[in-house]
Amino acid sequence: MKDILFYNSLGRRKSVFQPITQGHAGIYTCGLTVYERGHIGNFRAFIIADVLHRILVMNGYRVTHVINITDVGHLVGDGSDGEDKMEVSSKKYAKSSWEIVEKYTNYFLEDLRHLNILPPTFMPKATDHILEQIALIQRLETKGHTYRTRDGIYFATKTLPNYGRLSGQRIDEKAVGVRVDIGEKRHPADFALWKFSPQEIRRQMEWPSPWGVGFPGWHIECSAMSQKYLGLPFDIHTGGVDHVAVHHENEIAQVEGAYGILEANVWLHNEFLLVDGGKMSKSLGNTYSLDDIVGKNVSPLAFRYFILGAGYRVPQNFTWQGLDGAQRALNRLENIVRTWRQPTNVHKDIQERFLEKINDDLDTPGALALLWATVTDDAIPEGMRAATVIWMDDVLGLSLRDIVGKPLIIPTDIQVLLAEREQARKEKKWDISDEIRQKILDSGFLVDDTETGQVVREKRSSLEQA
Ligand code: AMP
Ligand code: ZN
Repeated sequence: MKDILFYNSLGRRKSVFQPITQGHAGIYTCGLTVYERGHIGNFRAFIIADVLHRILVMNGYRVTHVINITDVGHLVGDGSDGEDKMEVSSKKYAKSSWEIVEKYTNYFLEDLRHLNILPPTFMPKATDHILEQIALIQRLETKGHTYRTRDGIYFATKTLPNYGRLSGQRIDEKAVGVRVDIGEKRHPADFALWKFSPQEIRRQMEWPSPWGVGFPGWHIECSAMSQKYLGLPFDIHTGGVDHVAVHHENEIAQVEGAYGILEANVWLHNEFLLVDGGKMSKSLGNTYSLDDIVGKNVSPLAFRYFILGAGYRVPQNFTWQGLDGAQRALNRLENIVRTWRQPTNVHKDIQERFLEKINDDLDTPGALALLWATVTDDAIPEGMRAATVIWMDDVLGLSLRDIVGKPLIIPTDIQVLLAEREQARKEKKWDISDEIRQKILDSGFLVDDTETGQVVREKRSSLEQA
């Protein structure tokens, strides 16, 4: 097998991937907290995890990929107090917490599908694994890593000399400058393993436990579910960089405390997606969902293409203009591959070069550049270009296989509508123009208005309803 390099946040360097079991890779990806619809930043994390999955498959690995569903509402701000995200959403939408998680879990699964993310091997829910979480906490208890306060069972970070190894923060540094009230916690870095339900309030989500009725802390679910579905240790843990300092640090602590081993060998973290150069936030109204994307006449696959255009270890700036550029590039790519004849053989030399790129820490911009160089290289016979691009698409996931050699045939009635729409636009009758666009969409085609006029493409996702 070829060498694959990953940048490991643990140790902060690139190194050759060494699987625990020959020919197999176990990946755990922290899933969505399903208290509301996932936003485009979240989906950067899931597209990157999917690319990782696909790269390993391309290299001949059997992959077990777990993406969990966080359907227990951990507390806002991840502290030992604050409101529970599910309860907040439940109040906001006047639905029970269980209805909320069902609704947003379904959205999550749909959104993953629209983005061509390969179905993970397992998608365990935190609420289906309460007993496993309790068992892990009990083990930590017998090993002397826990203590009890009035509001819960906590992990005593001071009991692990190694605590802080992922973020490189020494535990005492974490405490410096921290002036927040830590309540009965012994150290600011200590975290809840089990929280008791408040006496006066009946929570919507609560379970019996050896310590009393309550609910698990956030970090314990990922340690318990990764252990169950991948075994410990496993190969690769992924997530966004925001998880390094707290969530993943605490996962590592839990497994080390319970079993004396490292939870996962490789810790792979994507940088954030920014919007207009800044953080996404509810108050700015820029936590866009896939619906917002298709509402702007951009396909989910164009969003995927956009994400592939930046290396996962640099912050990526989202702008509508940039996304529009991705849609145009994808249109151009689709239009070229549609004109080709049937695929023949993959170009061996390009295949090698492509593997070199993607095996170098998921170099997706490099892979896209090579894709374009191949697509536009007239010296390579068309059939060979077609076969090579289809093969590359196993990693890129742009559904090119479905359209190579399939010219876009625009039926006459659509052509008539297009002519009518052009006329309406000339006369600045925007209502009519929009009405016609909808009619065209209902027939399975989309229109982009460009400097050179209307460009038609095929509707390729059921989300695209305008
Ligand atoms: P959460 O539901 O908050 O646990 O987030 C799900 C995943 O999305 C985690 O891996 C986060 O690190 C990641 N994530 C959240 N916001 C962003 C963002 N703006 N850009 C990239 N990844 C993000
Ligand atoms: Zn997690």
